[in-house]
Parts: sequence; C-alpha cells; structure tokens
Amino acid sequence: MKRFVGGFLTVSFVLGLFVISAGAGDVKRTDVYKRLKKQLDAVRAIDTHSHLRGPSQRAELLGQFRSKPSTNSALFWVWRRGYYTGGHPMKRWPADGDFGKWWAGAQSEFQNSRARSAYRTMLPIFTDLYGVDFETLTPEQAKELDERMEKTYEDPDWGEKVIRRRANTELVIVDSYWRPMNVRDHYPFTVSTLNTNVLIHGFHPSEFAAYQAHDLYAFAAKRNLPVKSLDDYIAVLDRIFVEAKKAGAVCVKNASAYDRTLQFDRVSKTLAAKAFGRPRKELSPERIKAFEDYVFWRLAELAAKHDLPFQVHTGHAKIEGSNPMNLVNVIAANPKTKFILFHGGFPWVSESGAIALRYPNVWLDSVWMPVLSYEMGKRGYKEWLDMISSDRIMWGSDMATVDGTYGTTVYTRQCITEALAEKVVAGELRESDALRIGRQILRENALKMFPTIRERVESMDKR
Ligand SMILES: [Zn+2]
Repeated sequence: MKRFVGGFLTVSFVLGLFVISAGAGDVKRTDVYKRLKKQLDAVRAIDTHSHLRGPSQRAELLGQFRSKPSTNSALFWVWRRGYYTGGHPMKRWPADGDFGKWWAGAQSEFQNSRARSAYRTMLPIFTDLYGVDFETLTPEQAKELDERMEKTYEDPDWGEKVIRRRANTELVIVDSYWRPMNVRDHYPFTVSTLNTNVLIHGFHPSEFAAYQAHDLYAFAAKRNLPVKSLDDYIAVLDRIFVEAKKAGAVCVKNASAYDRTLQFDRVSKTLAAKAFGRPRKELSPERIKAFEDYVFWRLAELAAKHDLPFQVHTGHAKIEGSNPMNLVNVIAANPKTKFILFHGGFPWVSESGAIALRYPNVWLDSVWMPVLSYEMGKRGYKEWLDMISSDRIMWGSDMATVDGTYGTTVYTRQCITEALAEKVVAGELRESDALRIGRQILRENALKMFPTIRERVESMDKR
C-alpha cells in the first residue's frame, strides 16, 4: 500500500512537472497543439476585415516596379504596406530605384525588429510562398526574391491562389475606405463593409473636398435629395445605408479613433445643427465634436435599423482617446445595435472583454491584435474565452497586400491555436471543445454574424 501511494505520488509529480513545463514552455511542441493545428488549418476561414484592393492594382504596381528608374519594388511594397512600419522606420525607396541600396539600409532596421510581432507575422510569406528564410538572406538572394515576388503580379490568379488556396480563407470582408461607395473592383472572394469615417463630419460640403469618393452631398445631388438641414443629412445617410446594403455591404465600419476620441456624447439635434452648413474654419472644436457625436449615434441607430453589424475601430490609433470604455454610453443606449469592437481594443483587451461580458450586443474582433502583439493577442483570446461565450469572437487579417494577408492569416491561426492548446494542456478545456471553438472563431461566428455571407459562401461552393 505504502509502495503504491509512493508510486502514485511519483506519477503525479512527474505529470505535474509535465504540465508545468508544457505551460511554461512551448505549447507548440505538444501533441495537443499539433492535432489542433492540423484540424484548424483545414478550416475554411472567414476573414472579417481587410484592405485588399482589387486586381486592377496589379497593373499599376507592375508599372512602378518596371519603370526606369523603378519607383517601387515588390519586396519593399509588401513591407511598406504591412504593419512593420508602424512606429518604426524603414528605409525609403531610393530615387535611383537601386534595390541593393534599399536592402542594405532596410536590413539593418530589420535587425531591430526581429522580435516584433509586426515583423514576425510577415515571415510565413517567405518560408511558405517562396521557400526562403527571410532572416538569413544575402543581398543577392534578397534581389532574387524581389524578382520572384514581382513576377507574381503578372499572375491574375495570385490572389485566389494565395488567399483562397494557401491561406485557406473562403471569404474576406474588405473595408475599401479609399472608395467606400464603389465596391466593384474587389476579388471574387471578397464582400464589402460600408465605411463611414468621413460621413461623421460632413457638416459642410468642403469636408469632402479631399474625400470625393465619400461625398454625401454628391450622392444626394445625383438622386435629387435635398441636404439643407441636419435632418436631410441624416435622411441621406439612411439612403446610403439602403443602397450599400442593396449593393452587397454586409456591415458598417467606423475608424474615427484615428482622428478623435471615442467618447461620443448624447448630443441634442439643436446643438449638433449649429455646425451644419458651416465650413470648418468657422467652427470651434466643441461644435465639430458635437456634430460628429450626434451623427455617430445616428449611425449606431441606422446600423440596427438596417440590420448591419457595426464594426468600430477601438484601441491603437489616437490612443489618448481610443479606449473602448469610451463607447460604453453608446453601446448601453443602443441594445439593438450589434457592436463589433475591433482590434480587441488593443491594448485594452481586458476592458473589451469586460464590455462584452456586460453587454450582450457586443462582439469582439481580434483583427490586428496578434500582429500588434502576439503575446497580448494570445492573452486576449484566453481571457475572452474565460469571460464570454465562444460565439462572440472573430478574426481578420487587416492587410492591403495579397502576400501580407497570407502572413497575417497564418500568424493569427497560430495564435488562436496556441491559446486554445494552452487551455487544453492546463486542463481548462477539453480538446474537442477547443477544436469547436477554434472553428467558431475562424469561421462559424462570422457566418452567424453576417447572414448574407452564408448565401455567398454557398454559391461560391457551387462554382
Ligand atoms: Zn483595418
């Protein structure tokens, strides 16, 4: 008996050590992770947020790569349009178009970013799509890689091959903020969100001078709709929602957190109307804010009225005002609006979880979060799964290039799988549930959130 107890204790001790070491070490080495990874990689993902431009951009870029001197290069471009450059320098493209000169300067900057998630998210592009180790490239190999990447722009199916087949993403929701009301130039595997960034401050036609594609007044003029009062303005907004939905928009997006605080007061129409019809130079910042606040509240109402989920950029932007806690008044007062807090509110990932815990009309989209910090991303997934039901979490790639989309997709799949595997190894989740939750985050939750996507996916499956 004594011997048996001793043996049991020894086994428990050894098992305990294994759990501790697996928890403290790399969960990616465990069989649990490997099994989950294989099965989750096979999930046809739905990417809820991207800035992919359409195939027409290929010709434009090829022209830049091949002009003499060249004004751009494929390798430069993929880094330039990724998130590596956020808050971090990258050597500009040299005026003489000399790739070697660019690479020599950029190379020393990459050295300082080896551990950054925004850098590491790009590495799968090179290993998986081009079979090279980016971190050990010689200048000659870098040049050769650049030429191979450039050639992919000749292939009209590169987007389909990389995103649909290699990254195993079935459908992508694109935020074409550069052309929010014209969504026709996207890939066959994309759908659109209606971007409302500029619409919240359209108190005067001059606000659209630099944003003609967003011009509400031009939209109204084409339809003979008056825009003589704030009420008219909101009525035109309503019409934009109707037409966007008819054209296939599956949700509404607002990224005002780049320009202002996310604290939107409940403002009276009388106060908001004081800014209407007047150019910016005649208005105080308080007057402008009141107008924007009023319109943001109306956007939240219109999103509910037209049954379009409302994707709101929270966190990392103008960070002094982008804490998602600032949105709580709007969320609480609009229970019929489906708010999707983007980027997990990074770095306020716990606050986002708490908001979703408190308000059932909130969903959390982890888009961009693992790219800003893989560790925080993993922590975010784990904490959210502690707090809220697993059918309220989504993901997105948030990239503007085909290659970049691949890197981010692979990196995010890994982060989600790692978070789930850690819970399984810690005995906090059964493996079968982890697998089901992984499928929800990668695919099922988006299909449930955006019902029209399901029809689209089914019709694509028949092709
Ligand atoms: Zn984005």
